Amino acid sequence: VSPDDKDSSRNVLVLVQGGLGLPDRDFYLNADAKFSQWRDAYRSHIAAVLALAGDSPAVAKAKAEEIFALELALARASRERAALRDPYANYHLMTQDDLRVLAPGFAWSRFFDALRIPRSTPVNVRQPEFFQAFAALARDVDLSTWRAYLRWQLLREASPVLPRAFEDEHDRFYNATLKGTKSPAPRFRRVLDVISGRVGAEPMGHAAGQLFVATAFAPAAKAKAREAVDDIKVALAERIDTLEWMSDATKAQARIKLAAMDIKVGYQDPPRDYSALRVDSQSYAGNWLRANRFEMSRTLAKLRRPVDRGEWFMAAHIVNAYYNTTRNEIVFPAGILQPPFFDADADAAINYGGIGMVIGHEITHGFDDYGRQYDAEGNLRDWWQADDARRYSERAASIEKQYGSYVAVDDIKLNGKLTLGENIADIGGLKLAFLAFQKAAVRHPSQSIDGLTPEQRFFVSFAQVWRIKVRDEHERMLAVSDPHSPPRWRVTGSLSHQPAFAAAFGCKAGDGMLRGEESQAEVW
Ligand SMILES: [Zn+2]
Repeated sequence: VSPDDKDSSRNVLVLVQGGLGLPDRDFYLNADAKFSQWRDAYRSHIAAVLALAGDSPAVAKAKAEEIFALELALARASRERAALRDPYANYHLMTQDDLRVLAPGFAWSRFFDALRIPRSTPVNVRQPEFFQAFAALARDVDLSTWRAYLRWQLLREASPVLPRAFEDEHDRFYNATLKGTKSPAPRFRRVLDVISGRVGAEPMGHAAGQLFVATAFAPAAKAKAREAVDDIKVALAERIDTLEWMSDATKAQARIKLAAMDIKVGYQDPPRDYSALRVDSQSYAGNWLRANRFEMSRTLAKLRRPVDRGEWFMAAHIVNAYYNTTRNEIVFPAGILQPPFFDADADAAINYGGIGMVIGHEITHGFDDYGRQYDAEGNLRDWWQADDARRYSERAASIEKQYGSYVAVDDIKLNGKLTLGENIADIGGLKLAFLAFQKAAVRHPSQSIDGLTPEQRFFVSFAQVWRIKVRDEHERMLAVSDPHSPPRWRVTGSLSHQPAFAAAFGCKAGDGMLRGEESQAEVW
């Protein structure tokens, strides 16, 4: 259930391709030897879990092959991840009657009735050809195969809350095999993943966030973050004024969108109400099932109400932030308002290089290759003069080429198309944060420390935020599935677009992190 892309004030039912147990369609279709090994390991993993659930080894092996073949058919009908970033190609609003005609073979009415979805609710079928293929499979594939598939998917989702043997087997495949981890994560981390997930989207994520805010959030951080947001919005408004490639007509529209952008800092208020959810000390899996049921009815209830603009998607304890296209808002959970992103005792150089860059990044998402297609109210509507849109696309294409030449691991290069929006947001966000830092430095002067000037410390702070260790296996998986570039390219790639960085460190022509004048490709 999500806002209608073309009328962001109302919620509609949204059908999105899915149903795979591997992280992406590429894992089923990529001919590379590593992916082929992962497919073999996945089939063995399915069989191992079915055996734990009581099947004989022979039955488990046969069922695993059937299940994999069905998932492979779903993968073949799925769009590439980069193709999901075209909002028009992924918008097909229709009635439930239209859907029955479009995708015959599946009992759509009985399915929607079982979920108590009103017959009058419109459906946005994001990938029509996927649902045509799905409905044909529903009609043609044996019921026993579908039963085995659904049983497998339930076991897969539930494994982290089932007895230890299931959890260990799940960890062996999803972490050790796919990500190269050498030992399971500590227990608190595994439990937190079940409760909240990495972005707080699991059913009880906001409950965990409420505990975090009560013990760990300093209100002073909120005021300072808002000050930085204001500085950065002003910096972008001034950038828009001086952009050489954009006409006045488009600039006026861009300013309207920027001025309308809503800002949320800290935590959802009022908090999400969990009073209808029963949590007890008897059964971990039972709590998990009830929480999922609670979340499903909370989600479906949105169909009967207009869009709630106060709702947060990330929970308060999450170290992350987001821009929401259909609400035209930027959201910064309390979890990211702490070191190394933000430190109330640090000066502007450190904080603008850290949280300031994140704020600039999220604001720029409203104007990246995807976000720019939505207007001030969050509606999918073209507000660009045709020539400006063309010039934007030329600049974006040069950034796509730049990042597409970077190596993720071994011989795997980054997908310049998939990561384009994030890269535009990184380059623009860093530029805006630096401009805002210069303004803030007038109010709060920064000093040289340990031989580094304030400008140098701004860029060092930015780079420090992205320190990370990743195993090669995980890097390979992310190169296929993550819209973000690997952190070292997020840093090097966006610094190569900053004249202020070259000036701060005295870079000369020919130095490794400088790009030629012609390939600077200014977007924002
Ligand atoms: Zn981003």
